Amino acid sequence: MNFNTALLHGNFNGDSGTGATLTPVYQVSAFAHESPEKLEKVFNNKAPGYAYTRISNPTVDSFEKRIASLENGIGAVACSSGMAAVTISLLNILQSGDEVIAGAGLFGGTIDLFGDLKAFGIKTKFVNHISVESIEPLITDKTKAVFAELIGNPTLDIVDIRKVSELVHNHNIPLIIDSTTATPYLVNPIKYGADIVVHSSSKYINGSGDAVSGVIVDSGNFKWDPERYSGFEEYKKYGKFSYIAKLRNGLWRNVGCCLSPTNAFLNSLGIETLGLRMERLCSNAKELSEFLDSFEGVDVNYPTLDKSPYKPLTDELFGGRGGAIITARIGSKERAFKLMNNLQIPLIATNIGDVRTLVIHPASTIYTHSSEEQQINAGVYEDTIRISVGIEDIEDLKSDFEQAINKL
Ligand SMILES: *Cc1c(COP(=O)(O)O)cnc(C)c1O
Repeated sequence: MNFNTALLHGNFNGDSGTGATLTPVYQVSAFAHESPEKLEKVFNNKAPGYAYTRISNPTVDSFEKRIASLENGIGAVACSSGMAAVTISLLNILQSGDEVIAGAGLFGGTIDLFGDLKAFGIKTKFVNHISVESIEPLITDKTKAVFAELIGNPTLDIVDIRKVSELVHNHNIPLIIDSTTATPYLVNPIKYGADIVVHSSSKYINGSGDAVSGVIVDSGNFKWDPERYSGFEEYKKYGKFSYIAKLRNGLWRNVGCCLSPTNAFLNSLGIETLGLRMERLCSNAKELSEFLDSFEGVDVNYPTLDKSPYKPLTDELFGGRGGAIITARIGSKERAFKLMNNLQIPLIATNIGDVRTLVIHPASTIYTHSSEEQQINAGVYEDTIRISVGIEDIEDLKSDFEQAINKL
């Protein structure tokens, strides 16, 4: 099946009992069973069924299956937020004394998380851009994961996961990819060697900006050596499912960062139009980036622009599609604010992946707690605005930005 067909018909059966075309919202906490014998079996994974929504729920299950199939994974685990997914994807394999190598231009919340993990004895080594050259010298026996955003938000740097995965696999280290901004529409990171893929599904997967959530997808390809990864001994029997089995039966369940059934349902609705939206978003963003870059005093960063160092990778990995985020330097903070105030259509909001165009001044908001060095590594300057391009008619977006810039 091609992408849009698979979104609707791949690994998805609605509700087999009733014929409902969508899996309904099973908005309950607990599931009753006819006997204690039956519940005992369900509790001990000896019979299929549901017991309690923190552990599993049919609406959430259906969403997880759709994501796993979209990303070509062997399974997926949904979480209450993208940050919960990032956190648990790492803590499932890390312990005190371990090291992680990560990109310095990551999403602000993820950078902050790595700071929080210091208190638990987990050290993160940051590099400006994840590449073979930058990470190879930092790998030690203690390195247990490499974490990267495929398209950095808001740096918009692109990681060559083909080369990076080859390097880390030679050191028996897994590559964890946050593919939120790329989405399965641009690429399946697993195809190029990613071992674990995480998404903030609050963004493009949901699409309408109506539910916060996250998801972890397991490729099933990484060989977890119990000597190096503590706690994996008892999950060896699950074979290629050992990471996801450990996750489900361990921290994910016990932390309780489950996704609510209603939010899972909203995401499942969103997924169905992911292809249509992304097609429009990428073409809008490409055209808007070229338009904005033609103005004097506006310096645009977007991966398909000829001046972007990531244009070749965009062509090779994403078929020339650059995603839906643009950043632009406007000259000063004052000019950036003025431009945002002049805009009529975009909303001033801290989110990406909405159908509506959103703009934000990252330095005074998302990066307000970051050091200047962290800001610069993330491509965030005093005069930077980030545009999360929406599905509006491109002529309207262009004329709105044109009048806003001309008024500066
Ligand atoms: C938004 C975002 C997150 C965090 O997701 P939440 O759903 O807001 O918790 C993580 N990574 C990236 C790249 C994001 O854009």
